[in-house]
Amino acid sequence: MMNVDVASNLHEVLGRLPEGVRLVAISKFHPNEYIEAAYKEGQRLFGESHEQELQQKVSSLPKDIEWHFIGHLQTNKVKFIAPYISMIEAVDSMKLLKEINKQALKNDRVIKVLLELHIAEEETKYGLTLDACRQLLEDGEWRQLENVRICGLMMMASNIDDEKQIAKEFDMAADFFDEVKEKYFKADDSFSERSWGMSHDYQIAVQHRSTLVRVGTSIFGPRVY
Ligand SMILES: *Cc1c(COP(=O)(O)O)cnc(C)c1O
Repeated sequence: MMNVDVASNLHEVLGRLPEGVRLVAISKFHPNEYIEAAYKEGQRLFGESHEQELQQKVSSLPKDIEWHFIGHLQTNKVKFIAPYISMIEAVDSMKLLKEINKQALKNDRVIKVLLELHIAEEETKYGLTLDACRQLLEDGEWRQLENVRICGLMMMASNIDDEKQIAKEFDMAADFFDEVKEKYFKADDSFSERSWGMSHDYQIAVQHRSTLVRVGTSIFGPRVY
């Protein structure tokens, strides 16, 4: 039995998104039943962060669901999701980008990706610092990777209550988006996504130029690990 009203939670979140902002419903650790409840309400875009869990869901849920991989992806796992993944949101190394290109080529498709920035004050191993991201783009090797399409940037703000600080981090990401858009993607319309905002801060994110919010808990309730 579901003890969460997924449908009403979903509509509440959707009702708070301005036009032009899309919702990635983050369903990790939640059973198919929860995803089906959101699907029934028209939601088609979902995000997962573990390859095996995603694989199971893909094989048992409707085929018109669009899946984003939002977690840290090990290079040896890329081949498993390459046949179907719609977007890989958290690319933070050239090594991973090359592997995605290789596996996309094998599957005769182009995989959309976002570059993950590390802006939050917290220590984490993941994400590119702004300088590392500048360097990666300046090196130019990514231009040869014809089976990946860099569609924008993704980041997580610090997990804190200070809304001013959170807003400041989103603004840093948005300014950085403008910088690299101008320098490397000016003529590329597909470089357009700014993925920021989770349950606790998506309402701030949409005021700071987010185009994709990744919301889990506010829709599906707390995760049981
Ligand atoms: C789990 C997760 C989310 C969703 O978090 P909620 O707080 O449940 O909304 C968003 N982004 C990433 C990268 C995540 O891992």
